[in-house]
Amino acid sequence: MSIEKVQARIKELEEEYLEILKGLVRQKSISTEDIGVRECADLLKGIMEKAGIDTAIYETGGQPVVYGEVKRENSESITILFYGHYDVQPPEPLDKWDSPPFEPGVRKGRIYGRGTGDNKGQLITHVLAVKTYLETLGSLPVNVKFLFEGEEEIGSPNLIPFVQKHQELLKADLVLTSDGPMHESGAPLIAFGVRGVMNFDLHLKTASTDNHSGNKGGVIPNAIWEMVEFLSTMKDEKDQVLISGFYDDVVAPTAYERELINNLPYDPDRLATVYGVDKIHHEKEDFYSRLLFKPTLTINGIRGGHIGEGTKNIIPCESTAKMEIRLVYDQEPEDLINKVKDHIQRYNPSIRLTREEEDMRPSKTSAELDISKAVIRSVEQTFSEKPVVYPGMGGSLPDYVWTKVLGVPSIMIPYANADEANHAPNENLKLDCFYNGIHTSARIIYELGKNL
Ligand SMILES: [Zn+2]
Repeated sequence: MSIEKVQARIKELEEEYLEILKGLVRQKSISTEDIGVRECADLLKGIMEKAGIDTAIYETGGQPVVYGEVKRENSESITILFYGHYDVQPPEPLDKWDSPPFEPGVRKGRIYGRGTGDNKGQLITHVLAVKTYLETLGSLPVNVKFLFEGEEEIGSPNLIPFVQKHQELLKADLVLTSDGPMHESGAPLIAFGVRGVMNFDLHLKTASTDNHSGNKGGVIPNAIWEMVEFLSTMKDEKDQVLISGFYDDVVAPTAYERELINNLPYDPDRLATVYGVDKIHHEKEDFYSRLLFKPTLTINGIRGGHIGEGTKNIIPCESTAKMEIRLVYDQEPEDLINKVKDHIQRYNPSIRLTREEEDMRPSKTSAELDISKAVIRSVEQTFSEKPVVYPGMGGSLPDYVWTKVLGVPSIMIPYANADEANHAPNENLKLDCFYNGIHTSARIIYELGKNL
């Protein structure tokens, strides 16, 4: 079978591919400090061109995007868009590294260096899969596109504008992202969505100054009590948010998603230890339904009054609560903020709401699409092991760039080991993970090339 030829060739070329990764890691590309990022874009472009990929550098308002594609003549073919980032975190603290961060070295089956796991070692697997495929079989059974950005580590400020501007160029049937770690058990992991996140502050001022709690106690309002009372109107003791319409757009898990949840590993005692709590009070399905399919309203902090040493008998005049909502599909930040404002009008119109952070919308791709099933199958065949499939994830990533802005299904398959130490000293990538990544990307290309 053709894919076997590709897999065999990847095995033969392991050393050469490791050298390509080393070259990429050697080139600094620290976006926070604007060191070497452009040079890294040029280097990556050269590697992609040598792999047989038509590559171009696109300017953005910040660091450039490296874009590449291999097109088939048959316009019916599926198009995969691979996304990754070639910028890296600063390496500090340098004295905590066992070897210099930009001089990649291999020890005990791992390559060490800044960017080995996050994300150079992962994005290059897609390029190398395409390279091997083209060299071995002459053509791909799908169209592929690559979007590698240089600003992920500073929050991708130009990604959405870029995607909006280049909708036609980026048109695809599927976006694939390999970033972050595999499951901690070592099993491959696939994720089909993320929660969104939005933050806002609630401010309350009940007097122009703090007042003497004896001289005026009982006759003027206390800003902290009023804030606490207001907060208690937002949620009940069963953790149900009481803001009117809060759950209106929440989409419940499908039967298949519930099945996926039930296949997820679950060890409540171990989790309790990791989280530092006495006990996890939820059964498996409830635990994951809450984590992946339910929004939360969280008080991140409350400020006000006297919290220093000793006593200070005052009636505080000011209080601030820092709040966060984790949104699930298909909630929209603007809609929710209006609902919060309505709640304020109803219960305490003196409260003022402000927002500083940018919102991240939730994102979801159905794991039941043919394309999704083909990806799951590819991963399973590569690893000869069932992947851990998350129908969503508790955390937040800007995945909506693909599903909502570009309007394309998006699947995340991290290739790095769970202890990759991304953003930390001694960042590393297991060589097995690196090579398995190349095999997985090649297998996905092969599977999606069959008529789905
Ligand atoms: Zn990172």
